[in-house]
Amino acid sequence: MDPPKPEDARVTLVTSRNLVRASDAVPAHHRIADVRHGRGLTALPEDVWGGSDEDESADEDSADKSPERVRARKRRRRRCDAGRNEIVQALITASGLLNRVKVVEPQPASLEAARALHEDAYLQVLGAFEEASREELMAYNLVDDAAPFPHVLQHALWIAGASLCAAAELAAGSADIAVNLCGGRHHAGSSRASGFCFVNDIVLAAQELQRRFGRVMIVDIDVHHGDGTERAFLHSNKVLTISFHQREPGFFPGTGDSSCRGKGKGEGYNVNVPFTHESDRAAFLFAFEKVFRDSFAFFSPGAVVFVCGVDALKADPRGGLSLEAEDIVACTRIIRELCVDGPTRVPLLVTGAGGYDFAAAAKTWTRVVAELANAQSSLPEDVPEHEFFEMYGPSWRLR
Ligand SMILES: [Zn+2]
Repeated sequence: MDPPKPEDARVTLVTSRNLVRASDAVPAHHRIADVRHGRGLTALPEDVWGGSDEDESADEDSADKSPERVRARKRRRRRCDAGRNEIVQALITASGLLNRVKVVEPQPASLEAARALHEDAYLQVLGAFEEASREELMAYNLVDDAAPFPHVLQHALWIAGASLCAAAELAAGSADIAVNLCGGRHHAGSSRASGFCFVNDIVLAAQELQRRFGRVMIVDIDVHHGDGTERAFLHSNKVLTISFHQREPGFFPGTGDSSCRGKGKGEGYNVNVPFTHESDRAAFLFAFEKVFRDSFAFFSPGAVVFVCGVDALKADPRGGLSLEAEDIVACTRIIRELCVDGPTRVPLLVTGAGGYDFAAAAKTWTRVVAELANAQSSLPEDVPEHEFFEMYGPSWRLR
């Protein structure tokens, strides 16, 4: 892949092995993925959680110990055990995109940094949930999709640290675009976990961007309403939140009606664009382009945050919309054009969010990063051979 040209936006990808392992540690993610990829609980950073990819214990029950069979079993087990972010990172790497971006390794956020949004008592319970009563867990909604698991606080702080690192890259002027595909935990509230989200990295990063750039616009295309982010900025006219999502009876989280437009000073600075499972792709794209362009012109943001969930893809087991990867790439292009292709560059922070068909998520985010780095045309047409290659059949098309 060609190196970036001088006129291309400078893109930073915030990632590291420890971040990927920490963010892949949500057991419930794996229960969803069980449908497609078998069982699996993946490990967290080795320095905290231990464990090794070379553990052969699962091979003990097999009679065939030939090196080739053992290697094949290891590869198969790795695919079953791998988490989404590991699969995403592997495809981005195999596609040659790391030549087009700067990679920056994050650190976990401090508790003090998390307190910029979250109540201390909530963080304390997250850090010691084994000692909490059932009532306490219920009070913080640490149940169901937000049930705590070992090292959940570290998991959340790694994700938050990566989005704060992305914000710092933008604030320092080191990048035009900074990406944390492990981020986007838009359901978490100040003292409330929800839907796999424990610490809201979007809110923490947006607060940092606000300090440096004044007005911040957050645009969220995850199939679920960005309720935690909305709540944090409901009264603010300095942060404009826009959420495109599915909304119909029984669909999580149940909020996000178009009549919810902000409160007090923030009236008019919260935009909800709901769709139903009957909405088509064209309607989504039309609404996205219109609302994004109009809001950008009206608000004139100093920085933009794009919460690029991919669970609105047709293939996703959790969503009910029918987007294709190229629709999400098209949204990305519209944002990139307004933020960094114009005469004045507006710093852009991009996070991941939901996405539960792991292969579809990996392909889409690889194309999103390529679009941000102006490298779509140099992406290979087929998924390159790499560790998780076999997940991409039967077509193996990347774009
Ligand atoms: Zn979602």
